Amino acid sequence: MIDRATGAPATSPLPASGGAGLATLVRSIRAWGAELGFDAVSIADVDLSRAEAGLMAWLAQGYHGDMDYMANHGPRRARPAELVPGTVRAIVARMPYLPAAGADDWRARELARLDDPATAVVSLYARGRDYHKVLRSRLQQLASRIEAAIGPFGYRVFTDSAPVMEVALATQGGLGWRGKHTLLLDREGGSMFFLGEILVDVPFPADPPAEAHCGNCRRCIDICPTQAILAPYRLDARRCISYLTIEHKGAIPEPLRAPLGNRVYGCDDCQLACPWNKFAHRATLPDFDVRNGFDAPDMAALFGWTEAEFSQRLEGSPIRRIGHERWLRNLAVGLGNGLRAACERGDAALAARIRAALGARQATASPLVREHIDWALAQEVGAAAPACAAD
Ligand code: SF4
Ligand code: SF4
Repeated sequence: MIDRATGAPATSPLPASGGAGLATLVRSIRAWGAELGFDAVSIADVDLSRAEAGLMAWLAQGYHGDMDYMANHGPRRARPAELVPGTVRAIVARMPYLPAAGADDWRARELARLDDPATAVVSLYARGRDYHKVLRSRLQQLASRIEAAIGPFGYRVFTDSAPVMEVALATQGGLGWRGKHTLLLDREGGSMFFLGEILVDVPFPADPPAEAHCGNCRRCIDICPTQAILAPYRLDARRCISYLTIEHKGAIPEPLRAPLGNRVYGCDDCQLACPWNKFAHRATLPDFDVRNGFDAPDMAALFGWTEAEFSQRLEGSPIRRIGHERWLRNLAVGLGNGLRAACERGDAALAARIRAALGARQATASPLVREHIDWALAQEVGAAAPACAAD
């Protein structure tokens, strides 16, 4: 977007037919996007001044926790043209990730899994290949097709990797509305999708924003296990299980360990509760097929993975980003909750298996993991625990 000769912002050439040509081009961009696995592509105006006030208020409350990168970029997150000079529009795109092979009653099955103390629950989006690379590559292919049609133009591709207000941009471009859980959702596609953007210096005709359709519903607020959605559209990330199990680096606060249940990487509850997700689309790319049996993994077995196994089995998975120590920390909390549940249910065999898995790591664990193991082993104390009392 910068003229390399002068250093000044450069404007990309328009198609010879001007505005009409751009409208035709947008139709082509949507078709190319569909071929690349995106289920919707829109053009967003990049004036996010209304969203900026909300962002600054959210940061001022400290709701972002230790996601310092959010605070560091401050209002620039709401000003794409400051991030990439010359930007006048964003091409916003959605890619569904719901594994193609799942059952029709997937939401009921996922909710039922949360009651199985032997099983770990990994967020649906993280069961396959790391979406960052997949989306970035597909967005780059889309940009290259545009370039082949109109010649060189200024652009930069983003997906969850830079200080861009993705949901605000996608809302502005009509890909959906921001639900009370703060995620983007759509009447025809639910919310089980990734977002990506291409910031461009071409004045494509912008799509209108979508209308909101949450109405009086508050299912996502009511189901949240940690009451992280403080009020409609207000999320305290410090209480959110997705944040605690993925972004947060230190100890998981004790009051939030029991509500975490068996969710060891992310949390889907607010999306599972959302009625619009009966219209969620299936992934069309094999990248998002389930790997490692992550649709029903045995929690104790995952805890037994060595660091080498963790790296090798999670090659290409988003989970590898949190590292082995945080993985063990999360699993220790899940196992502690599983131990308590096994004791309460009188499942002596499961209680013994969990205790053995935790005990096997106790001597060699890092101080962070060790503290979570100690907490986990203490969960049988005080439980109405025939299975545990028998030992
Ligand atoms: S992801 Fe889970 S913890 Fe976070 S807001 Fe949604 S339901 Fe609550
Ligand atoms: S569960 Fe209800 S309130 Fe929450 S995002 Fe979905 S429609 Fe909106």
